[in-house]
Formats: sequence, structure tokens, C-alpha cells
Amino acid sequence: MMKDLKTCQFWFITGSQHLYGEETLKKVAEHSESMVEKLNQANQIPAEIVFKIVATTSEAIENIIEEANYDKSCVGIITWMHTFSPSKMWIRGLGKLQKPYLHLHTQFNREIPNEDIDMDFMNLNQAAHGDREHGFIGTRMRLPRKVIVGYWEDKHVKEKIGLWMRSAIGVMTSKKLKVARFGDNMRDVAVTEGDKVEAQIKLGWSVNTYPVGDLLAYIDAVSEAEIDAIVKEYEQAYIIKTDNIESVRYQARLEIGMETFLKKGGFDAFVNTFEDLNGMKQLPGLASQRLMEKGYGFGPEGDWKVAAMTSVMKTMAQGLVGGTSLMEDYTYHFAGEESLILGSHMLEICPTVAATKPSIEVHPLGIGGKDDPARLVFEGASGKAICASLIDMGGRLRLIVNDILAVKPIMAMPNLPVARVMWKPLPNLETSAEAWITAGGAHHSVISFSLTANELRDWANMMDIEFVHIAEDIDLYRFKQDLLIADLAWKLK
Ligand code: MN
Repeated sequence: MMKDLKTCQFWFITGSQHLYGEETLKKVAEHSESMVEKLNQANQIPAEIVFKIVATTSEAIENIIEEANYDKSCVGIITWMHTFSPSKMWIRGLGKLQKPYLHLHTQFNREIPNEDIDMDFMNLNQAAHGDREHGFIGTRMRLPRKVIVGYWEDKHVKEKIGLWMRSAIGVMTSKKLKVARFGDNMRDVAVTEGDKVEAQIKLGWSVNTYPVGDLLAYIDAVSEAEIDAIVKEYEQAYIIKTDNIESVRYQARLEIGMETFLKKGGFDAFVNTFEDLNGMKQLPGLASQRLMEKGYGFGPEGDWKVAAMTSVMKTMAQGLVGGTSLMEDYTYHFAGEESLILGSHMLEICPTVAATKPSIEVHPLGIGGKDDPARLVFEGASGKAICASLIDMGGRLRLIVNDILAVKPIMAMPNLPVARVMWKPLPNLETSAEAWITAGGAHHSVISFSLTANELRDWANMMDIEFVHIAEDIDLYRFKQDLLIADLAWKLK
């Protein structure tokens, strides 16, 4: 489940060399320490940065990188060359690096001190060329890494560092991620399928199936007192708009039973399918929505890729403004440039994306032949967001992200019995959907009001998977050319 980000560490390694002498190296260490201390005070930085060493030899670099690889609290490393650090001495260490890598290109002082600048100052403040030497070896060794440039005390630079840290936390989460599958993928559906072995090799996701019968034992074991307590929580958090309390209580039973199963197995995400509810009286609706609200990833119709992505993105987004949920493109409102998508699902949209206090309602489902399920109904938030879809291209994974502008639903839709989010996909529906469909994007996606395409691009780069961005400035001709070239490039990789 979701980790407390404050327990995640990023190791700060300052590069230098012996030629400068003790006095200068002492200054390098002092400056590094004070930078790290101030960065840790910034609210843009979600986890702890730990200053480790001023590295001046090949052995020291190798040792610290080996330690970083093995230390479970270390999520990634940040390097900075305050002075010049000949890069051949980084080859042995960087060749072993297995964690996310940020090269921060900054300098300790903001401005050139007109009167005070002398040769001592020049010897100490050399990042302008020291970091270029460091950058070369990263490129020469083809190391996946992020380069962030700017003055370290500037807000936007701290923001960039903090967001990259979130992507790296997404990498760490991925490598340990466990998905429980209650039932297989919906019969005959293609896009929710995929190579689970490849996903585990590439992304670290463990995706295994558990019979619904095993889960039922947990659901049946839930006591009436436990259900009473959860229903009290419902009364606090939501508006109860139904007389069918039995249906609501049954969803509480499902919620507790599923959560117990997931906790016991250390799962981060789960899927189910309406085609395999053997022994369950209702499709989990409210129950799945609640578990998503608590941070679990969820995928309907056996869609384990969307379940895992929801979990990864929820972890990355912890503490940011705005929610993250499973989403599905449901139906369109065609209105030229202002055409909109109505997104929803049979039941399971996460209340973290709600604009209003959700209400619990009970309605027939019309599919699956089970009892009427209780679900949370609400209108989604408005504002800038993204929709992300991970697909299996056969031989590789592709992550597609579309920038969107969510709006308050333009009509009340009083007879629509599910949570709904409405958005304008950028640049407009026609262009976005043409690009999405050409790239093979799924009908299921993850919507996030807190992350942007940049964090997912960094995550995809670190996971070594393809990334495709449908943004406001998309040029469809170039987009298709890029897909063609990427297809070749990924085959050669
Ligand atoms: Mn669906």
C-alpha cells in the first residue's frame, strides 16, 4: 500500500577531485550540506534528500553507488559537480547504478560577485563546466537520467526536483507492486490483455490470480459490528440517498472482506470482473470506490494494467492537490471545438476526483444478473488533468498520455446513476481521439488532476518503456511519423 513519502531518501552526491586541496573540499562539503538542508525545508520536496559525500575517487563513487543500490530506503541519487570532477572516475560506479538518477545542474551562488570574484572563487564555483564533463559520461554510457538546470533556490527548480522525486518514487513503487486478480479479463476483450511476464520483468509488477471462492471466505467472515462501523463512516463522508440499506451494508461487507484479503497479501491493486462474481450478491461498486479512495489501484473487467497504473499514480501524487481515478471514455457530446467526453464506468470511479459530496445510491446494473449494487454518485472536479493509458504493443509497453481540461458537467443528467466526469481532451476531441486511437490507447485510463504528462514521461523513461504525449500543440502528421520511428527504434533497442 501507499508509502509515507517522508521515509523515502534521495542520496545527494557531490563530485569533485583531490587537486583543489583540503580547504576547497571542505567548502564544497559545507555548501552541499547547506543546499540539501534548505531543499529539505521546501514544501515542493516530497521526500528526504540526504547529503552523502564529496566524491573524489573512483573507489568512493563505486562504494556509494553500491550502497545506494542495496539500501532499501534509497529511492534514487542526485549528483552535482560543484567543482570539476573528471568523469572517467565515475565510470565504474555509474556502470553499476540500478536506481533513478538525477543530474542537478546548478551552482551554489546565484550571481557573479563583481568585486569579490578572484581565482579562488573561480576554482570553487565551476559547475558551469564541471557538470558538462559529468553530463558527457552519462550520455556516453547511455544512462537513463534526468537533467534539471537552474538556480537551486528558485521555486520552479525546487518544483522540478520534487516532481522528479515523485516519478522516482513511482519507479520504486512499481518494482514492488502486487496486483490481485479476482477473475480473468473480460472474455474476448483485447486491450486489457497483455504479457504479465514482460510487465514483471520491465516494470516489476507481480500480477497473479486468486479464485473468487478464496475471497468469498473473507467476505463471509465479516461481522455485523464491523459493517456497522463502516456504515457510520459512510454516513459521515457521503449523503445516503437510498432506503435500500441492505444493499449498502452488503457493499460494506465487500469492502472489509476485500481490504482484509489485500492487506494480508500485501497487495497494492486489484481487479475483478462482472463475468466472475460466483457467490457474490452484487458487483463491488461502493466497495471498490472506497478502496480506491484509500489508495488501492483498481481495474474492472480484469484490466490489471489500469489497476497497477492507478496504484503507481496515486502513490506518486500523494500530498498533491487533486485526485486520481480509474476512468473510461463513455460517451461524447459533439459541439465542434468544444466537444466533450463524458467519462464514467459501470460503478467504479474514485471519489478523490469528486467536486461535490458524493451520494450513495442503489440502482439496477443491467449487466451481470446480480442484485442492485450501491455506488457513490457524484460530479467530477474541473480543471487541468491528464488521462493515461498503458498498452501492450507485443514486445514492448507503450504509455499514452492526453492532456485534458475537465469541466463541470454541462447538464445535470438526473437519470444517470453513476459518478461522472466531463472533459475536453486537448487540443480538441477530433484531434485527440484520432491521435489516441492511432496510438492504440485503451477505453480504460487513469485520470489524474494532480500529475502532469512530465511526471509520467520521467517515470516511463526510468522504466524504459515508450511514452506518447497528446498535448495541446500536437501536430498529427508529426505524431504519426513519431509513432513510425518509435516502432523502429524500439525494435532495434
Ligand atoms: Mn470498463
